[in-house]
Amino acid sequence: MPDSPSPSDQATAPLIEARNLVKTYTMGDQTVHALRGVSLGIAEGDFVAIMGASGSGKSTLMNILGCLDLPTSGEYRLAGEEVEGLAPDALASIRNRRIGFVFQQFNLLPRTSALENVELPMVYAGVKAAQRREKAQAALDRVGLGERGGHTPSELSGGQQQRVAIARALVNNPALILADEPTGALDSKTSEDIMTLLTELNRQGMTVVIVTHETDIAAWARRKLVFRDGQIVEDLRQPGHGGVTDGPAGSGKLESDPNLLAQGATP
Ligand code: ADP
Ligand code: MG
Repeated sequence: MPDSPSPSDQATAPLIEARNLVKTYTMGDQTVHALRGVSLGIAEGDFVAIMGASGSGKSTLMNILGCLDLPTSGEYRLAGEEVEGLAPDALASIRNRRIGFVFQQFNLLPRTSALENVELPMVYAGVKAAQRREKAQAALDRVGLGERGGHTPSELSGGQQQRVAIARALVNNPALILADEPTGALDSKTSEDIMTLLTELNRQGMTVVIVTHETDIAAWARRKLVFRDGQIVEDLRQPGHGGVTDGPAGSGKLESDPNLLAQGATP
């Protein structure tokens, strides 16, 4: 179908356009329906929290959005590029150019300095050593760890390690940050620091999608999606998040946006 975007569509160009994503895992005679037809649009510059019980399909969706995995069926476009038919190397290329990942367990190399950990995505992207160093330092500066580049992960606190991981996610200047339970291993004060940092990056224009099971953490996002049994069952706009407020929206102030739900329900 030809799309004829109106001027208002262009103002919030969709970064993510997913239609009818299905993911089925087969193990022996067991079939798991991890995603049962998920349709979702995420605009550039949005800040989205995905919630839902364990096993409801959140990570499966993040892996597909992150071009780490392909759906069994359905369509996915990232920044206008069709993803679903791509070969693994083309998928890796999109991933490197467009996406930064943040994980619950930080996934830093243990005996490697913070600076070198942040350089890693650029090693894969073939960036020269001097430029790698410069960009990695700039990314560490951006997360407030400019002075700690020489420290290994074991010499840093959990919150600092997650900042290093965020610097690593930022270093190729992606359009999208995908964070699967980024505060899951952190205490509440440190979690707030990390959410403040993600909010600041979002304010600078980065599209941010996080998975969390904590309502307090989800309240930092501008939009909240709730998963159940492989489907989106709620799609809520959280007021007071125009990119100019500090901190999370108060709980109980959620407001349903029927347009978003309608968009998500398009066959
Ligand atoms: P969540 O992140 O919401 O906890 P997941 O997306 O990890 O949920 O999992 C959704 C469902 O898919 C679960 O039933 C899970 O056991 C199953 N699943 C996830 N990954 C695999 C896999 N690689 N092989 C088989 N089943 C999987
Ligand atoms: Mg998960």
